[in-house]
Amino acid sequence: MSFAVNKNDQLQVKIEDLTHDGAGVAKVDGYPLFIPGALPGETVKVHVLKTLKKYGFAKMLDVIEPSSERIVAPCHVFPTCGGCQLQHLSYEAQLTQKRKSVRDVMDRIAKLPDVPVHAVKGMEDPWRYRNKSQIPFDTEDGRVIAGFYKTRTHQIVDTDVCIIQTTEADELMAMLKRKIQQLGIETYDERTHKGMLRHLIVRKARQTDQVMVVLVTRHKKFPQKQEVVELIQQEIPNVTSVMQNINTANTNVIMGNETINLYGADVIIDRIGDIEFEISARSFYQVNPVQTEVLYQQALDYAGLTGDETVIDAYCGIGTISLFLAKQAKEVYGVEIVPQAIQDAKRNAELNGITNTHFEAGAAEDVIPKWYAEGKLFDVLVVDPPRKGCDEKLLETILKYKPGKVVYVSCNPGTLARDLRILEDGGYRTKEVQPVDMFPHSSHVECVALLDLSK
Ligand code: SAH
Repeated sequence: MSFAVNKNDQLQVKIEDLTHDGAGVAKVDGYPLFIPGALPGETVKVHVLKTLKKYGFAKMLDVIEPSSERIVAPCHVFPTCGGCQLQHLSYEAQLTQKRKSVRDVMDRIAKLPDVPVHAVKGMEDPWRYRNKSQIPFDTEDGRVIAGFYKTRTHQIVDTDVCIIQTTEADELMAMLKRKIQQLGIETYDERTHKGMLRHLIVRKARQTDQVMVVLVTRHKKFPQKQEVVELIQQEIPNVTSVMQNINTANTNVIMGNETINLYGADVIIDRIGDIEFEISARSFYQVNPVQTEVLYQQALDYAGLTGDETVIDAYCGIGTISLFLAKQAKEVYGVEIVPQAIQDAKRNAELNGITNTHFEAGAAEDVIPKWYAEGKLFDVLVVDPPRKGCDEKLLETILKYKPGKVVYVSCNPGTLARDLRILEDGGYRTKEVQPVDMFPHSSHVECVALLDLSK
């Protein structure tokens, strides 16, 4: 078969767009070529690596005409490290690009060309925003390395600095790299399933500055633990908790089931708005605390609560959105599939003296129909599903019982657009979509959409 281009061709192309994972897209006689590192508006010289039926891949050899938005990535391991995709694009242009990608799925998938997609709410200072780092260790030619994985591999890109994470995480990562060999601690080897230290996890509560360190080890026996705790305390005085998590399994799931306290408290405490949250080693918690507040405030604004409403928070995690909404609602019902998260949600409600929330563990698509069958009525439904979007049965439930307002929080514009189309066909109207940048320099974008039953 012949295509507009063939493997090993070298050609000059104009970049028209960016894929959802940050590669440039050129069209050669209508045939899309994906080119990592190239930016929209640029003319680049490429070498074609692979051609498939509907699209191909090429490597950028040279930028002939750069985009005015191209910048020198501030991180020295970009783009080898897979953590960021867009550091070569100015932050303003990243936001424009993210809005465009949401607009595009609203037109193409949701078939909603008239629905307003607002300018992305971005960060004033889009660096050092991540409150949680999970750092793998390895040994290469007798030298300990640590950092993040290269895209689609488990190959560590060794670094001492990551300008997305906290300075505490940087310092701990660099210190442990220097010290663990002297202490006789071996790094874990994924290939042979031998060794000891698997991951360093650093979590920081932005509002209180408390830091939790979790050392994920292959077995429980950890003779050097006292020395490690002392080194950590010396390096970072605001460490309030050091935990050991034991993961004996031959898996790439990071944490195991057993967690032991080595020093300090079992949890750190953070605040979103004026609500306090206890975060344990394994709790799910949004990783960009500054933007989480922006996101939740948007959900709250769209919910338009007056104090009389009964609200569902579906896919509630540890109840963060539920508790954020509770003060302005009559009652909030949260549902989440992970039982431990529901325990956290209940404890967090108690911690804050909030008494008008109810949490239930289970699948949203099973629990919500049950609530309705029990005769409960809801005015507003908030959903915040994982990347695959809402379960079909949940969408059917919404269309059957028709709560007056749906606020859809989404981390995947593609599945959001798909679900909006289904809700539109069932009688809802999408009023507006507000994208929020939770992950600067990555290609992800979070959205909040408001739907109601108006004609
Ligand atoms: N709203 C929360 C968490 C959102 S992440 C926050 O802002 O922090 C999505 C959550 O959906 C995860 O906690 C996941 O465990 C949960 N989940 C996944 N499938 C589910 C289902 N079928 N029913 C209920 N919860 C589900």
